Amino acid sequence: MNFIMQFESLGILVLFLVLLLLLLYYTVFSPRRVLKRMNRLSALRMEVTCLKCGYREVRGVEKGVYVGMVIGKCSRCGGDLVVHSIYAEKISPSERRYIT
Ligand SMILES: [Zn+2]
Repeated sequence: MNFIMQFESLGILVLFLVLLLLLLYYTVFSPRRVLKRMNRLSALRMEVTCLKCGYREVRGVEKGVYVGMVIGKCSRCGGDLVVHSIYAEKISPSERRYIT
């Protein structure tokens, strides 16, 4: 009888520990929190290049932009400006305010 009681309390303890770990996992690694952290540390940038003269420029990403998209005309030669790459760049919090 005593043995069964001990076994039962051990089971409850294990269950409690598992629940605690799950709670910890979700509070630390919840998607919203990870996203928030990513947002704090990085900004999306895109590199645009002119197909005609090879002019390069780094800008902040605009909505709906994709790699290979013709985004406008080159200020130098009037050729097509194409999105060459989109990437996340790590930034410091003080730099963040300058990003549009
Ligand atoms: Zn150009």
